[in-house]
Amino acid sequence: MPLGSTIENSTGFGISLDELSNEKEIKDILTFISNLIEKEEDLEYIKFDKEFHLESLDLRSSAWMQQDIFTNYQSETELMRYIFRLAEKDFSLVDGMMPLGSCTMKLNSAAELNPVSWANLSSMHPFSPPDQTKGYSKIISDLEKWISEIVGLKSVSFQPNAGSQGEFAGLLAINSYFESKGELLRKKCLIPKSAHGTNPASAVMAGFDVLTVECDDEGNIDYQDLSIKVKQFDNQIGALMLTYPSTHGVFELQIRNICDLIHSVGGFVYLDGANLNAQVGLCKPGNYGVDVCHLNLHKTFCIPHGGGGPGVGPVAASETLSPYLPTHSLMDNILSNSFNFVSSANHGSASILPISWMYIKMAGLSGLRKATSHAILSANYIAHSLKHKFKILYKGKNDFVAHECILDFRDLKSKTGLSVNDLAKRLIDYSFHAPTISWPVPETIMIEPTESESLAELDRFCEAMLLIGEEISEIENNYELKNNNVISNAPHTLKELIADNWQYPYSKEKASFPYKTLTNIKFWSSVSRINNAYGDRNLICSCNVNQDETLEEKKCA
Ligand SMILES: *Cc1c(COP(=O)(O)O)cnc(C)c1O
Repeated sequence: MPLGSTIENSTGFGISLDELSNEKEIKDILTFISNLIEKEEDLEYIKFDKEFHLESLDLRSSAWMQQDIFTNYQSETELMRYIFRLAEKDFSLVDGMMPLGSCTMKLNSAAELNPVSWANLSSMHPFSPPDQTKGYSKIISDLEKWISEIVGLKSVSFQPNAGSQGEFAGLLAINSYFESKGELLRKKCLIPKSAHGTNPASAVMAGFDVLTVECDDEGNIDYQDLSIKVKQFDNQIGALMLTYPSTHGVFELQIRNICDLIHSVGGFVYLDGANLNAQVGLCKPGNYGVDVCHLNLHKTFCIPHGGGGPGVGPVAASETLSPYLPTHSLMDNILSNSFNFVSSANHGSASILPISWMYIKMAGLSGLRKATSHAILSANYIAHSLKHKFKILYKGKNDFVAHECILDFRDLKSKTGLSVNDLAKRLIDYSFHAPTISWPVPETIMIEPTESESLAELDRFCEAMLLIGEEISEIENNYELKNNNVISNAPHTLKELIADNWQYPYSKEKASFPYKTLTNIKFWSSVSRINNAYGDRNLICSCNVNQDETLEEKKCA
């Protein structure tokens, strides 16, 4: 059934089966349907053949999955080693801090993740009869209650599978509200320049015209520019989408005034809640004027999200907008006016909700508040430790950042020929995952330590950054080092280090064991640089790559 259609206006249906179904089950289903058609008088016109033979289908006769990789590992021991070798190529939280800003790479504790693998949670069909899903109903209703309490808004829908889908659902709700009131001209959506790219994309998909709002030097919404646009477009304004704390990592001081201004012309305030890690337990969006917001459970509420998913982006709304939150045509929801479903299953990626349930249940409100405070403290600790060597791009009125900080390297290229990309690669030599680079401002580095990191790990990170700062100064002062230096050649692999000819103008020790004291922590990158964007632009099938051969070698061959 396509998105937006209902049972009444659909013209057909499909049944999906997987490898667990057999021919007998298919026959049972066909018999069931044909009996139903025979019984119902007004369905007599349907011709239905209940005879089914698997052989009559056009089945594949060619061989499949012929690459060695699918047959090489025949014992559990071999397979285990193969998977471990693959995992070893990756830098994960097991190896050290992943300081990615805006992504909130936070602790995924074993206790939170454990229940996800239980069969009674992992094998549930999204449309199982209610008497079989009482456990899930409890998990979902608890989470609804808790999240509604955390954000200070009336209702929550777990249908969106990502933050971006939550944005789309929230904006559809605003749209539907105005349509129900006959206010069809409210099609303008104000979005500050600093917003995440998904904000304008969702607004356009939901049928809004995007109006960009300027930001000031501190990264706040330019209140004057906002006022002018609000005055100019007045009753055409449907919504303002804002991120708080902003993607510049600061708490907007004007937040209440901004919300009031939008309400004064009858518009709604949409909060991009991706930065809720800086608010949970300390302040509630509903209290400072937000009408609808999404959360990223795969950021703030511990669901692991490296590698692209799956995610949960619940959308929460005020009493006025609640009736327009997503529902599903296969679920009875007599209270809802909504046809805004955004996912095929009513509760989206329900199977990973137990992770967030465990986190909130174990932490409790006081634990959540402590986590938020700790996250803000950690970011400020880093900003404070590094501010003498590097420029912190945005700060609040009292010289503090929120839960992340941005280091400004916009003059690095002209001074040294290096880019932030080189610095990110060099951090790998220091046994760190690269931070977020060039977002939301080109040639900057965005660091978010989260509450999960210890003081010792934060100190190790600051030491690494300060040593990189010294390396930058050396390169700046020595023209010979331009284009051939410890940063531009990073990361250094073990293979390079033990090779007989070492041709770089610095020592092997400096390349790979750069800390003054720490020698017991070392992550070896399995490759040095491969053309960063090559893989994004070219489809490469690695199935035939010999395991000792790197993709890079294969590419060159
Ligand atoms: C991550 C993020 C999003 C999008 O969330 P997804 O779950 O990746 O779709 C939107 N806004 C901000 C500020 C984010 O950090």
